[in-house]
Amino acid sequence: MQSLEVPAVGPGGTGAHRNRSPAGGIEAPYHGVVEPYPDRTPARRPGPGEPGPQLDLLDRLERPLRDLRISVTDRCNFRCPYCMPAEVFGRDFAFLPRSLVLSFEEIARLAGIAVELGARKLRVTGGEPLVRRDLPVLIGYLSELRTPDGDPIDLTLTTNGSALRALARPLADAGLQRITVSLDSLDDAVFGAMNGVDFPVSRVLEGIAAARDAGLAPIKVNTVVRRGMNEASVLPLARWARDEGLILRFIEYMDVGHSNGWRLDDVVSASDVLATIDAVLPLEPVAPDYRGEVAGRFRYRDGSGEIGIIASVTRPFCADCTRARLSADGHLYTCLFAVSGTDLKTPLRAGESDAQLAARIRDVWLARVDRYSELRSEATDRLPKIEMFALGG
Ligand code: SAM
Ligand code: SF4
Ligand code: SF4
Repeated sequence: MQSLEVPAVGPGGTGAHRNRSPAGGIEAPYHGVVEPYPDRTPARRPGPGEPGPQLDLLDRLERPLRDLRISVTDRCNFRCPYCMPAEVFGRDFAFLPRSLVLSFEEIARLAGIAVELGARKLRVTGGEPLVRRDLPVLIGYLSELRTPDGDPIDLTLTTNGSALRALARPLADAGLQRITVSLDSLDDAVFGAMNGVDFPVSRVLEGIAAARDAGLAPIKVNTVVRRGMNEASVLPLARWARDEGLILRFIEYMDVGHSNGWRLDDVVSASDVLATIDAVLPLEPVAPDYRGEVAGRFRYRDGSGEIGIIASVTRPFCADCTRARLSADGHLYTCLFAVSGTDLKTPLRAGESDAQLAARIRDVWLARVDRYSELRSEATDRLPKIEMFALGG
């Protein structure tokens, strides 16, 4: 029987920034099993005469622009402590005034320009995207976008699921194809602590059921694993997702923004998550579907489904990062850990043409050198990073 074991990482402490992997990134607290990761062979640019796009917009590390994450609001009805801790984002917190938030027409226009420049996947996110009124209208606009070759765009959305029961059908009818729902535990007490507002699990499950009934497929479930909070939820979630035919993706707790008080000790490494599941439900790696796929994929050896692992801390994937982010207030960011973005709203509202706006986006992408997760260190610790909910998680 094939084993998931690969050579062990050397011993090391668990203090922040102590363990550096040769490829950059941090080896999180290590407990004995490392998974063999699917090969991430970077896509090659086709040579002259070979089929394929010849004019990819490549950044300075040869990465094409393929994905745009669109934050439609910086607001959220949850207060997940790893993202928007309640003690920081209380009643008095000043979220964006409506006048500074892009309209659906403005978002659709910028998304269309990004598609012209190479984006093939659009993910609507936030904050919590479903708190934005009339969101299906935007989905309708985005679903009409086509690549320069006339192909449809891969259109999806990430939500905390709290309003999905009512909105799944209108979103699907408007052209949404698939959906990702975040759910950190099936246990109400644990989930309540993880969402910061005691939101019940059952309501999210109803939302997932509604998404399925509406034909949104595949349905992915995102789970952030935070030490001392929901490690015990990993296996129950894995069993449940497998039985329900959902693709579960575990995300390493990341040092996004500067409010969540991130410490490396709080990260449960992908290796540990895999080992926990593999011990009971044996797994094997699967090759990635495409360049830029952030989740390492593993399937159950009995063929009953698969899970993903987003190991942004212990296995950085910057070399294949093809994502840009458009914030709710119309700034373009080229890294989740950015400290600044490029204002597109001001020139857009000043009347610039699509060609002028495209030139701005092109210039930003051509200059892009981001690889934060590979460089994560004491120096990056102190950067005034933008919060994840603000720039589009
Ligand atoms: N509100 C929506 C949701 O929760 O699905 C969409 C926005 S949220 C910022 C997008 C994803 O980022 C969620 O799956 C969430 O769990 C994840 N996330 C937020 N903060 C994180 C952190 N510090 N580390 C890892 N993942 C995080
Ligand atoms: Fe809200 Fe999503 Fe952030 Fe949780 S992770 S606080 S649901 S934006
Ligand atoms: Fe992409 Fe930045 Fe994350 Fe690296 S750290 S994978 S460049 S978003």
